[in-house]
Amino acid sequence: MTPPGEFPASEFPIGGCHPISEGVHVGERLRLMAVHAHPDDESSKGAATMVMYLADGADVVVVTCTGGERGSVLNPKLDRPEVWRNIAAIRREEMAHARAILGVRQEWLGFVDSGLPEGDPPPPLPAGCFGLLPVERAAAPLVRLVRELRPHVMITYDERGGYPHPDHLMCHRVSVAAFDAAGDPDRYPDAGEPWQPLKLYYHMGFTRERYQALHLAMLAEGLESPYEEWLARWVDLPDTGDRVTTRVRCDNYFTVRDDALRAHATQVDPDGTWFAVPMEIQRKVWPTEDYQLARSLVDTSLPEDDLFTGVRECVRI
Ligand SMILES: [Zn+2]
Repeated sequence: MTPPGEFPASEFPIGGCHPISEGVHVGERLRLMAVHAHPDDESSKGAATMVMYLADGADVVVVTCTGGERGSVLNPKLDRPEVWRNIAAIRREEMAHARAILGVRQEWLGFVDSGLPEGDPPPPLPAGCFGLLPVERAAAPLVRLVRELRPHVMITYDERGGYPHPDHLMCHRVSVAAFDAAGDPDRYPDAGEPWQPLKLYYHMGFTRERYQALHLAMLAEGLESPYEEWLARWVDLPDTGDRVTTRVRCDNYFTVRDDALRAHATQVDPDGTWFAVPMEIQRKVWPTEDYQLARSLVDTSLPEDDLFTGVRECVRI
């Protein structure tokens, strides 16, 4: 199988459905599984895509690896001792609220948040946290869930985690490991009947091209851009814009995305940069959520505008 990030179009498998998928998908509902590190990640990465596919009749499940127990309180209005003390319980409530807004199913893997180590040098990760577990072991409950829920398409973070939080890196590793192992009867033999998802995507929403476009549109409207400083710093940082293979139009659902993100009230400042760009500008300038196709067992051609390209043909023959 081709490693992530090295998937030229010419190397895509030719000839339609993967042998495992032949027949078994016919007439079934399309199923999408998005694997995330913490509660709130599902609302800030790919949320509008999920709601769009739900509206289109697909089955969508969010898998949350950790409880977010070591997350900070990022909303100044909620930065109070009792909130910090009860953060684990509060984040479960926030997740329930966001889940209801999005309309998705959600499963917890039950791992413990690693926290974001800060300092120079950074302190070691706390014992027993998600980021320290061996991948083989940490992937086991996800393999079980993939076999039980049988997604056709999976979404996760790229090998850099989208940003370098140890739980995001681990989320990438376990997602790729589960994608590769779930269809193999010799791997995790006690974790259910094998099921091979057909495509694996990485989120690519955090690209310089997108923020640059939003920034210029804000200035053109005579508004203050929240991205000025960010973009100036970004010049020296790596960008993943050239890895985008798939742009999914989902701007009708951006407001649902924002409502779900606000439901994670401890994790986002409602007056902060997340919500600073007017909806009309976002919809006009960048109406898609963007992905990199990292694995495909079905025939497709790039660029794509649908995560289920090549899968629909297998499911609804
Ligand atoms: Zn996160």
